[in-house]
Amino acid sequence: MNPNVTKPFSFELPTKIEFGKGSIKKLPQLLKEFNVKKPLFITGSGSTRKVLLPKVTVYLEEAGIEYAVFDKIEANPKDYNIEAAAKFAIENKTDGIIALGGGSPIDAAKAASAIITYGGSLKDYYGRWKVKGPVQPFIVIPTTAGSGSEVTFSSVITDTNEQFKKTVKSQYFGPKVALLDPDLLVSLPASITAATGIDALTHAIEAYSCTESEPVSDACALYAIELISESIREAVFNPTNMDARSGMLMGSTLAGIAFSHSDVASVHCMAEAMGSLYDAAHGVCNAILLPYVMEYSLDYAVERYARIGRIMGSTAADDRQAAKDAVEIVKQMVKDIKLPTLSDIGIKKEDIDKLAHMSEENGSTPSNPRPMTKKEYVELFNIAIND
Ligand code: NAD
Repeated sequence: MNPNVTKPFSFELPTKIEFGKGSIKKLPQLLKEFNVKKPLFITGSGSTRKVLLPKVTVYLEEAGIEYAVFDKIEANPKDYNIEAAAKFAIENKTDGIIALGGGSPIDAAKAASAIITYGGSLKDYYGRWKVKGPVQPFIVIPTTAGSGSEVTFSSVITDTNEQFKKTVKSQYFGPKVALLDPDLLVSLPASITAATGIDALTHAIEAYSCTESEPVSDACALYAIELISESIREAVFNPTNMDARSGMLMGSTLAGIAFSHSDVASVHCMAEAMGSLYDAAHGVCNAILLPYVMEYSLDYAVERYARIGRIMGSTAADDRQAAKDAVEIVKQMVKDIKLPTLSDIGIKKEDIDKLAHMSEENGSTPSNPRPMTKKEYVELFNIAIND
């Protein structure tokens, strides 16, 4: 079972979790708790702005709380989105931040919070631990069940000059509150439910099987795998099923807690390279790559993949068989929920060298159970492309 319990680790979660249908009604009270008088909503321009924002702001209007809205965050948020959001906050003299949306607005809000609080430009904060101290009070309302960014310390931003997804990581990026209301997920289209759901599953599987795993994150990861496996098909094909939406939202948050204290691994390294080069949806890239990376790494993580396989439905007594079943069960799940394939992304053979180099450069490469260099990434991209 490889329980990991002798390994030293530290675990901190600075984020209060408010979970439940209707929990957005608590927003005015939470803003008072943190003494925020004029919050800034940071969100996207599509459904999050048009459909979801009014469902939330109605409670602020009832409570007589003034607010401002910055709604220009794109998918795979771009460096210029962050600079513009920060400028808008400073000009509008807001004193707190509410991120509303999927991982893109949440990550954008985290990065913007550093500039809003301490000035400078985004480049000053690239990398780890560059934010000097606490940022403005920050509440997150996720509307996808995927990134887990509501409980993580990272922000992933596309540097448009370098065409590279950069991470800004800070211990101060753990939001004050994650307000998890499954009702906000009902409008999520099937394709996005599927892609974001596999993103969350990938977080949980990689957190549990990578070299940085530890017991608390293991606990979160294993329950996340169970919840997501049980709920994903129902959430995709029966979008108003509140049990399924709740299972996905809880699962993705637990997966976020898991990987932010453990790590992700090669699926994410490859997916972020593809996201950088083709601006492809992060969850779709994960979904395509997850079974291939699991198969490639299987010999190095048999016991852990076996446990994952059994949680997902394998009845095999033999660990190796249960681990192989895990790969097949994930493949079937990705097929069932009708995610695109590698050729749909438009990946080009001539890009493989560059993609492999970008994957190798990713900080999570050393965490993969099978040691990976550019050579192995080239091999893996070729296996996936030729399948
Ligand atoms: P997203 O935020 O890009 O949203 C995808 C689409 O879904 C958008 O078009 C949005 O308008 C729409 N949408 C969101 N909620 C909706 C709803 N309830 N109803 C209808 N439409 C809705 O997608 P995501 O997958 O949540 O986030 C991806 C981003 O998160 C990537 O940039 C990725 O790198 C990042 N990420 C960050 C972390 C982290 O720890 N910081 C972890 C994983 C991923």
